[in-house]
Amino acid sequence: MTISANRMYKFIAILCTLILFYSCNTTKKMTITERKLIQSADVNTPFRVLLVTEKSDSLVLRKPCRDVDIVNDSLNIKWLIARMKATMKAESGVGIAAPQIGLSRNVFLFVRVDKPDMPVEVAINPKIIEVPVKTVCFERDGCLSIPDVSGNSIRYPWVKVEYYNENDEKITEKLTGYSRNDNFVAVIFQHEFDHLQGILFTDKLCEMND
Ligand SMILES: [Zn+2]
Repeated sequence: MTISANRMYKFIAILCTLILFYSCNTTKKMTITERKLIQSADVNTPFRVLLVTEKSDSLVLRKPCRDVDIVNDSLNIKWLIARMKATMKAESGVGIAAPQIGLSRNVFLFVRVDKPDMPVEVAINPKIIEVPVKTVCFERDGCLSIPDVSGNSIRYPWVKVEYYNENDEKITEKLTGYSRNDNFVAVIFQHEFDHLQGILFTDKLCEMND
């Protein structure tokens, strides 16, 4: 191999790595297709919820999401959140993630069952940064995208998380609560966060010990 060929291979390798890195990790502005989906109706109109029972929906539900560009897509994100709120209300859910309405982006809504009046809050580009060693088996998990099915799922009793809220403020907090009958906000966050990785609660079923 000559030096120039060697250099050429190195250059190609670096180029491929960069392409892979940018296609996977960068926060790209929304595409025309994504904008069309969000803006297909006014801010008060619910989206159609994708279902695992539909093959084409199922493919979207299994696709990992990427971050949103908070600065350059501000208007689209606000529109998206308003319509997701309307969707969650119409479906009586405690959480909904963007892939459930067909958008493969890291955004979800979750009901703060741990707070007075249980407000709906938004997690944009969320991360789980710390979890305990032991897991619990959470009772009767369910999902708007998996109709008429419920099951117990393996969850962490608490999670330390980072995300941007709908006012673009960076939040770092520890969410605690896995009791189905009381506060299970830690489980809601994990369930919605899983959606962003293409993971459904039926992937992590468990048996109750007692
Ligand atoms: Zn779900």
